Amino acid sequence: MSTFSGAVFKMAEQQFETIADHIGIPTHERARILMPKRAITVACPIRRDDGTIAVFEGYRVQHHLTFGPTKGGTRYAANVDLGEIAALAIWMSWKCALAGLPYGGAKGGIAVDPYSLSPRELEGLSRRYMQEMIPFVGPDTDVPAPDMGTNEQVMAWFMDTYSSYQGATVPGVVTGKPVAIGGTVGRREATGRGVAHLAARAMDHLGIAPSGATAIVQGYGNVGSYSARTLQDMGLRILGVSDHTACYYDPRGLDLDAIDAHVAKHGVLAGWSSEAAFDPSQLLTQPCDVLVPAAVERVIDAEVAAGLKCRILAEGANGPTTPEADLVLDERGDIFVVPDILCNSGGVIVSYFEWVQGLQRLFWEEEEVTRRTNIILDRAFNQVLERARVDGVSNRIAAMTIGVERVLDGKRRRGIFP
Ligand code: NAD
Repeated sequence: MSTFSGAVFKMAEQQFETIADHIGIPTHERARILMPKRAITVACPIRRDDGTIAVFEGYRVQHHLTFGPTKGGTRYAANVDLGEIAALAIWMSWKCALAGLPYGGAKGGIAVDPYSLSPRELEGLSRRYMQEMIPFVGPDTDVPAPDMGTNEQVMAWFMDTYSSYQGATVPGVVTGKPVAIGGTVGRREATGRGVAHLAARAMDHLGIAPSGATAIVQGYGNVGSYSARTLQDMGLRILGVSDHTACYYDPRGLDLDAIDAHVAKHGVLAGWSSEAAFDPSQLLTQPCDVLVPAAVERVIDAEVAAGLKCRILAEGANGPTTPEADLVLDERGDIFVVPDILCNSGGVIVSYFEWVQGLQRLFWEEEEVTRRTNIILDRAFNQVLERARVDGVSNRIAAMTIGVERVLDGKRRRGIFP
């Protein structure tokens, strides 16, 4: 596949080949499952605050259209490229299929450091990106959501831009919107809460009591902060947290109230404490019960995997563990992995609920959102454990196998133009 390149895309390809070998997908059928249906690249010019014009490259990849519209987040990061976005779109497909949602996977992004933009520039770029995407997205076509570097405000600009061109408010075009304009209660917290819920299922499975247990969280944005908060509410002590600006560790447990107050004021962890400052390269390998990587891909390579001292690896981020690291984890056999496409699926599940509520103009109570989310998470968790047991494979292979199989089945049933 010449259009897509890079380490992250190779990883998605490699993982798919492992699954295809495992369930014996004939070679001639593999490209049909793996090859993204559409890849869109757009140039997004904006006027900077100093009066100059800058052009940023934007992407959207829609992996497959077999079950309905495509669905996936939007990442703003300096090093984002088409290959990474394609990999994330492919993972979204397996994730949605595992959760039983009527979506194909998608992902979008802009190659920009969002922290380098002023609020006016961020709004201009977000609106320009959505304006360029209007022919390709929509409630029945492709529904963007937030991911790294984007948030509710960016989704509000997306919806407003799309709606202005339609001449009517279209809440179903994006999820992760502010509740005040058609978002759902519980979406902001959904991914982190889901991570904690599944970490608790894993603790229960291993016989670890939450009170007295410990956790470390890498990445303190949407997913990381709500994972940490929910795990703490369950009784765990949070020993370490980090973001791209700082890393803190305290074996007695960190004061999350103080950290959250600092982040609310400054936007990042930097400047919170000098006593608790810690070497970020050592954070993942500190002893703890639950380790939550909730930042970027490929942070756990073979070397880090060999040094991990956690009991449970709860993958909040997408693709944090490389295939080489998976081999090490398989060999070790002492770490219970809740793989990304299961672990962080609370986000897309509640996005699905937001989309449904937007289409119906009928809004649910938070209790309903949480109850239904946990039903889907528990079902997927049970199916993954059962499949891992029956096939004698890792939780990751089991989870991806279920996802890939469902997409394959859907494609076979719908058929192909002769
Ligand atoms: P975010 O932008 O809200 O937060 C990302 C955090 O990671 C920030 O705190 C940032 O400083 C930190 N970070 C970046 N590089 C880092 C590094 N090298 N070391 C330590 N920290 C670093 O993004 P998010 O929405 O929380 O997404 C985090 C991860 O979770 C991504 O992999 C994303 O794809 C995945 N995810 C997000 C959602 C969602 O609903 N937002 C759903 C599923 C999966």
